[in-house]
Amino acid sequence: MKNILTITVFFLLFSMHASAFADLKVKESVNVGILLDVESFNIASDKKYSIKNSEKILNLSPGNINIRILGDKIIAGKYNLKLPVQITSDSYIIVNKVIYRGNIAVRLSKNRKLNIINVLNIEDYLKGVLPKEVSASWDIEALKAQAVISRSYAVKNLNRHITENFNMCSSVHCQVYGGASAENEKCNKAIADTHGQVLMFDNEIAQTVFHASCGGYTEDPKYVWDWKNATPDYLKGRKDKYCSDSPHNEWTCTLSEKIIRKKLLSSGYKIGSIKKITLSGNTGGHAKEFVIITHKDGKLKLKTYKFRLAVDSGLIKSAMIKNIKRKGTDFIFSGRGWGHRVGLCQCGAKVMAEKGLSYKKILQYYYPKTKIKNIEYEK
Ligand SMILES: [Zn+2]
Ligand SMILES: [Zn+2]
Repeated sequence: MKNILTITVFFLLFSMHASAFADLKVKESVNVGILLDVESFNIASDKKYSIKNSEKILNLSPGNINIRILGDKIIAGKYNLKLPVQITSDSYIIVNKVIYRGNIAVRLSKNRKLNIINVLNIEDYLKGVLPKEVSASWDIEALKAQAVISRSYAVKNLNRHITENFNMCSSVHCQVYGGASAENEKCNKAIADTHGQVLMFDNEIAQTVFHASCGGYTEDPKYVWDWKNATPDYLKGRKDKYCSDSPHNEWTCTLSEKIIRKKLLSSGYKIGSIKKITLSGNTGGHAKEFVIITHKDGKLKLKTYKFRLAVDSGLIKSAMIKNIKRKGTDFIFSGRGWGHRVGLCQCGAKVMAEKGLSYKKILQYYYPKTKIKNIEYEK
């Protein structure tokens, strides 16, 4: 379960971007912000490469060069060029020791520093994303399911950084992207086998959210996020019959009264010393909706997911807290699942693939009534 924390944080930051794709035509190339607001970086290639702007072109021999900003120009060795510039090569381009496909664009950022953008086609972009979200040791059908999910998410969120003049960043905020350095043959095959396929619901690309392990029941998004929209049918919480053997299904953690109080106070909740923490309500997904904290000055009733976020979303692995016990100055929490528990459960998807079920069956199980469609790439 690689990069589980990444996935968790990524979806905590998740937000809705509605967009309709009646004809599903999508521009082939994508601009990925790989280094943002930097003053200098190193660039290299094992073949000839060039740096150019609208006025001049600088042809460079294979090797390494440092580039830094000076006003609205870049200094590259003994040369200077006005921004923006484009860096191209017949081979891969290496930026700060990370290998990239496609081209590199260098633009002035809002803070008058450098934004380094990798310009490449969406299918190649996914090759640098998939190995960051799954383990390549999984069965190919689980990797194919993840490829469709990541492609759908990318295409749905192309406007996420449009005010900064690129499409997506390379961090957990969008999807973690590690360039060609991150690539893996098996993940590349999963991407090629599902070329152009995205998940649709009601003529729109579906919100293909996923998590590490649901603990036996997936959850409705309204219980784990500040979700304002009505829950689409395909994201409603339901029983998962495939992930029961997951090692991530059960967890416990111990947190001191002092730490819990400190964390809640720093999140803006006014509480005195904590006497008791109990659970109430029901989400339908076999989780409790609220945490009630009895403290010196009264009672605080909090949504369980807000309590988890405020206290420690790493140690409290999900909002499916089953039990809270007091032991001296400590509170012992136990629960099930890992992550937000909405949409596809990666542990379950892995098991389905091992049982011989196809990626289409996996996607249909976790996002019922959605349809797979092919996007048409345009130059
Ligand atoms: Zn982003
Ligand atoms: Zn599950």
